[in-house]
Amino acid sequence: MGQIIKIKCNCGELLFKYFKDKKGKLIKCYLDEIREDYVGGVREMKDGDIPKCPKCGKELGVITMVHGRPALKIKQSTISMRT
Ligand SMILES: [Zn+2]
Repeated sequence: MGQIIKIKCNCGELLFKYFKDKKGKLIKCYLDEIREDYVGGVREMKDGDIPKCPKCGKELGVITMVHGRPALKIKQSTISMRT
């Protein structure tokens, strides 16, 4: 089970389409579950990289390893999600 959700910046810019396999609050995005990357190049980012919103330039979070998989640890103040 799971669904594709839209992840947006607080400025309204669409950032990702992401496959979310569990309900509840989004804390991290596994890079290999990002289905559309509107930011650009995020799926190739490495540990410690900080993607930014292409429109407003706010930091979206930090790339970190979670259970051996690269993931974006989300900065909750910047990002909102919609189904
Ligand atoms: Zn933005």
